Amino acid sequence: MSKYCTNCGQSVRQNDRICPSCGNNLALSNKGNHEVSESTSAYALIGFLFPVVGLILYLVWAQERPHDARSAGKGALISVMVASVLVTLASIVFIAQV
Ligand SMILES: [Zn+2]
Repeated sequence: MSKYCTNCGQSVRQNDRICPSCGNNLALSNKGNHEVSESTSAYALIGFLFPVVGLILYLVWAQERPHDARSAGKGALISVMVASVLVTLASIVFIAQV
């Protein structure tokens, strides 16, 4: 019977509270899973609406809050991708008219 660290994926013992590899609090991350996913989508939305803010949050939280940082960064990335697709489509339409 072995379980894995939610942060680094390293295998840890069943009764380990802290990951020996990265120091992630295993008991905490298991218990607060639902709350994490809720705040995660909120940060992704912020990153999507304000990509610059999402990027800043991603950089600031990269060490302390990797989960939130990743979702804020993901939201910003999706926003940039959507924006560039729209710009590409707009320029195709523009070129086609000329
Ligand atoms: Zn770990």
